[in-house]
Amino acid sequence: MTEETNNKNKFYSFVEANHASYAICDQTKCSTCEGTGKLRSQEAMNFYSVKKCHCQNFRNRLSTLTNAEIPGRFHDCDFENYHPKHDSQELAKKKSINLSKNILSAKKGLIFIGNPGLGKTHLAISLLKSCVLNHDISGIFLDFSNLLSSIRDGFSKNRSERDVFDKILNYRLIVIDELGKGRQDTNWEWGRSVLDDLISQIYNAGNIIPIFTTNYLLDREKEDFFLGPRIGLRSFSRVQEMCDLVSLNGLDDRQKNIPNRSKYMMV
Ligand code: ADP
Repeated sequence: MTEETNNKNKFYSFVEANHASYAICDQTKCSTCEGTGKLRSQEAMNFYSVKKCHCQNFRNRLSTLTNAEIPGRFHDCDFENYHPKHDSQELAKKKSINLSKNILSAKKGLIFIGNPGLGKTHLAISLLKSCVLNHDISGIFLDFSNLLSSIRDGFSKNRSERDVFDKILNYRLIVIDELGKGRQDTNWEWGRSVLDDLISQIYNAGNIIPIFTTNYLLDREKEDFFLGPRIGLRSFSRVQEMCDLVSLNGLDDRQKNIPNRSKYMMV
């Protein structure tokens, strides 16, 4: 993790039920409480008080991170293993680290824009991890198609969209990956209106830091790639107000091991 993470707190990650899980290394005995998790101090003769050691706080943060629903594939992504190969990626990493360091006073989130495979999701997750582990911020990674499925499932159990949103809106940091993705099929309008509601609620809450990633562009002139109509102009405007733009360029990292294939993406 970043240099901010307490080195005494060693942890490991693994994948469980398709999501990333995090746990403290049992061998790492806390030097303050010697692994008991408790601190005893003498208040008066024959009177001791017992407090939780700070290492337990770190355990709680790992459990918050496990509950953030980070996809299993990205379980070990962090700032340290993101290696920029282009100036824009270097800048994107700097902006992400900067936000993670200042998250407690941050007023705006980030929107990562660029072609697939440039590490937008990697950086968004690294940011989420750093905020949870270093600043005890609660955060969630939202897979939008899963969100739509759980809203749809909820209808049959008399649960409204609002019930699903209420849970999400308790988080301080929300990552929405692949904004604007989706086929324009029969569910398209419904999906877009759910997204519009969600973005409205995040906007109105005023204390949630949103992080978006998208393969679409903010530039109206690139009509086919313009994010606006994909999410609706109202959401488009709100996303821009809530976030600083982070543009990534370069080569698709997924193509690096595939021979005889153009590594350059067209825009
Ligand atoms: P995007 O969201 O831009 O499509 P991802 O974040 O999903 O890209 O990256 C695709 C894969 O490539 C992931 O496994 C990610 O960890 C890796 N990756 C991308 N860019 C880098 C980089 N600069 N350094 C290390 N790994 C990278």
